[in-house]
Amino acid sequence: MQIMKILVLNCGSSSLKYQLIDMANETALAKGLVERIGIDGSRLEHKRDGGEKTQIVQDIPNHEVAVGLVMEALQHADYGVIKDVSEIKAAGHRVVHGGEHFTKSVIVTDVVKATISECAALAPLHNPANLIGIEACEKLMPGVPQVAVFDTAFHQTMPEKAYLYAIPYGLYEKYKVRKYGFHGTSHKYVAARTAEMLGKPIEQLKIVTCHLGNGASVCAIDGGVSVDTSMGLTPLEGLVMGTRSGDMDPAAVAFIMEKEGLTTKQMENMLNKESGVLALSGVSSDFRDIEDACAQGNERAQMALDVYHYRVARYVGSYAAAMNGLDAVVFTAGVGENGPETREAICSYLGYLGIKVDNEKNAVRGKERDFSAEGSTAHAMVIPTNEELVIARDTLGLCK
Ligand code: ADP
Repeated sequence: MQIMKILVLNCGSSSLKYQLIDMANETALAKGLVERIGIDGSRLEHKRDGGEKTQIVQDIPNHEVAVGLVMEALQHADYGVIKDVSEIKAAGHRVVHGGEHFTKSVIVTDVVKATISECAALAPLHNPANLIGIEACEKLMPGVPQVAVFDTAFHQTMPEKAYLYAIPYGLYEKYKVRKYGFHGTSHKYVAARTAEMLGKPIEQLKIVTCHLGNGASVCAIDGGVSVDTSMGLTPLEGLVMGTRSGDMDPAAVAFIMEKEGLTTKQMENMLNKESGVLALSGVSSDFRDIEDACAQGNERAQMALDVYHYRVARYVGSYAAAMNGLDAVVFTAGVGENGPETREAICSYLGYLGIKVDNEKNAVRGKERDFSAEGSTAHAMVIPTNEELVIARDTLGLCK
């Protein structure tokens, strides 16, 4: 029998998310999460498809121990799904930053690892953790191919006019300072599903995908390729997010640092972790809390949502201009999939693009749906993202 099981790993600095996917039918056999690696209270949460959640609380000092625990859980007599590690054909790893080096997924080699390490200058929090995950797998699954799937790769098709910043050109030449964009696997998956749902070739479609989670970005996809996206050199640019500011006057950064006597690290921390709807609302970075506060008449919470919706709508409009047209605007990720109110508020700005919302159809959470009303000339849709499946498909494709 052909081995079709792919392990998908997403390593953060202190966490590890995993799925074991059977590519014979593209279903997740098991999924789980290791949290607080190297910190007190570390634990693994594992769930077999159709089974109960199992929690294992124990000391997990590093990623190698974490990957080892994942292997044990996958092979466990009660809640495991494989008899032996040899049933895993390959492992696919999410890697955040591939710089200009990677335009698609690749099999991991020593050269690939060195390049990922080089790109860590652009993503100091993410790339080192991604590499640690790859190396832990190499040790624990010797001989099993590892594939790196980059958040940035899908956006490498952006033209120069979209990715260059208007700053001294030498900064691009020396340090590769430019727009890269993130959430590429999600935008790619959602655009492909849009074409399938509409029953049209993707080459003929102009799509704007809105990935609205804790982090959020919008992508203009013309004929199946990314032509612009809202995140930049780092994930800070673009939309207002849970705790990130998104776009603002760069001069305000220097002004605030000077007034408040902040170091670059402190300023970076403020813009990434203490801003966004959290800062505007004064309530929370979680949209459920903000919507609850609105329902109780909290005006700042409503203002935070207004700023958030307006920014997304402006990006959709600018991307319709960039593509000279729009066939579909598509919502995905935590807020996009679960927030009918958010989708409706954003779409209320888009009537001039031919979008009209059918409120009944829009009353959906976490399911695929075209919620445009009759008479719309462009589609408004919700499509739950599946980044793990894209990683697994790319991995299988490279290991056949
Ligand atoms: P991440 O970027 O961490 O992957 P997700 O895509 O899981 O984020 O999105 C997380 C966000 O989704 C939460 O912060 C929350 O605001 C939002 N969210 C989740 N469920 C709901 C819901 N039922 N209604 C509104 N917002 C939700």
